[in-house]
Amino acid sequence: MSVKHCNIKKKLRISICVLLCLMLCLSGCRADRASKASRSGDSCRTVYEIFVCSFCDSDGDGIGDLNGVRSKMDYISDLGFDAIWLTPVHPSATYHKYDVDDYRAIDPSFGTMEDYEALLKECHDKGIRVYMDLVLNHTSEEHEWFRAASDYLHELPSGWEPDTSYCKYFDYYNFSRQALDGYTYLEGTEWFYEAGFWSEMPDLNLSSEAVRAEIRDIMAFWLDKGVDGFRLDAVTAYYANDTSANTEFLRYLKETARSIDPECYIVGEAWTDRDTIAALYTSGIDSLFEFPFAGEGGLIARTLNGSSRASDYVDGMVWAEDAYGRANPGYTGAPFYTNHDMNRSASYYPEDNGPVTKMAYAMSLLMTGNAFVYYGEEIGMEGAGKDENKRAPMYWSDDNEDPDMCAGPPDADEVQMKFPPLADQIKDKQSVYSWFKEVIRVRNAYPAISSGTTEKADFICDDDVAAFFRRSDTEEDVLIVMNLRGQPARKDLSTLGKDFRLSEMLCTGGEKITYKKSTVTMPAYSIAVFTRR
Ligand code: CA
Repeated sequence: MSVKHCNIKKKLRISICVLLCLMLCLSGCRADRASKASRSGDSCRTVYEIFVCSFCDSDGDGIGDLNGVRSKMDYISDLGFDAIWLTPVHPSATYHKYDVDDYRAIDPSFGTMEDYEALLKECHDKGIRVYMDLVLNHTSEEHEWFRAASDYLHELPSGWEPDTSYCKYFDYYNFSRQALDGYTYLEGTEWFYEAGFWSEMPDLNLSSEAVRAEIRDIMAFWLDKGVDGFRLDAVTAYYANDTSANTEFLRYLKETARSIDPECYIVGEAWTDRDTIAALYTSGIDSLFEFPFAGEGGLIARTLNGSSRASDYVDGMVWAEDAYGRANPGYTGAPFYTNHDMNRSASYYPEDNGPVTKMAYAMSLLMTGNAFVYYGEEIGMEGAGKDENKRAPMYWSDDNEDPDMCAGPPDADEVQMKFPPLADQIKDKQSVYSWFKEVIRVRNAYPAISSGTTEKADFICDDDVAAFFRRSDTEEDVLIVMNLRGQPARKDLSTLGKDFRLSEMLCTGGEKITYKKSTVTMPAYSIAVFTRR
């Protein structure tokens, strides 16, 4: 064998080896991603947000509670939801409980730890995940950490420097002798403390190693109980106006949670613009709520009130999926339309008697990712203006004697409902409730809808009609066409050839969609779902 020939063979062997390594690596990467998707199983959850004190009262004191939630799990499951997010359940003096006194306990008005564990078990038996609200930006001023720090500063002689070896809790919050922006005077001392939202909610010092260790222990406490994930409150407030510091802290939270439970899901509340959301996704966090599509001024509402084109809604989805996917290839979208801080969606369209309210939620539920729905939206509840009104009692029935009904937040106005209570809607096939159930059924029936990637169907889209494919490597592609206006629409789909058939029609009124000779004719406010033949 000549040296030359030997070298060629050697080079060939090296090349094959490199190629094999590359293939192994690539398949390894793919396997990694696939196993992540199947492991988390969170690419296609439909999540019901429950504002606990206003949902269902089990013991007649007028305050919604954990046993009340548990008694409604059949209702929630029957609607097609497979996860719930409970607003904070920890001890707190306020009705909303976003100012926590103790991260490891249950507020007595909501029940006991045994009640929480029973709810977890019931949910898991039904295949429903439970996401806990984790409020880390601040505590209540009644939290023992803040009281200890406050007591220490009250006893500290004038002019002395605090010593954390005497009181470690001084380091848990941001104290200053200067009245900095967002700081509140600590009565009876020489000190001010940071409280960005409210004087009674002191901001935690999230750079403190001791605070981070506490957070790790709190996460471990609840993950050990079986909680499936966390909804992170107010992530843009962690470090005000500092996206890179917020990103670093989100990365810490995600990695910490995953080190405790590799399946833990995390979704963050970043009420901000889409560029900032994209930047925060570089933390590796699973999800950030899709604020740019939500609320009265969001892309969905703007599209339906005619200030944006139908095609803008599709372009918005494509932009978000591309930008977020580049920032975090393993991200999962988190579309939602309203939450407990927003006016109820039925109030966005005062003239609407159903179709627009229904379409708006379908546009949110048919976005990719884990879709979140605020309780009561499934029956088109009203509630706007002050926060308490947005959190009105779940409208189970108009019978004042109905034991499930809650009293609602103190100081809430009497909210005038537009649509009937659930008890009536459940019997009506044309109700907002029946629409929700049908849209969620369609969402769950075609996994590509929630796990796939949006591709604009340019040849169909215009000012009034939104159309897009939802492509998936593992699931059957779908084509969704939405008529977002109050007039019928007709579209020539001959470009599709004979590959696609009309599989589902979601019509807000009595009229049906027809698909003949490659032309689809759609009544006002309707949705057609096509699948491959
Ligand atoms: Ca109660």
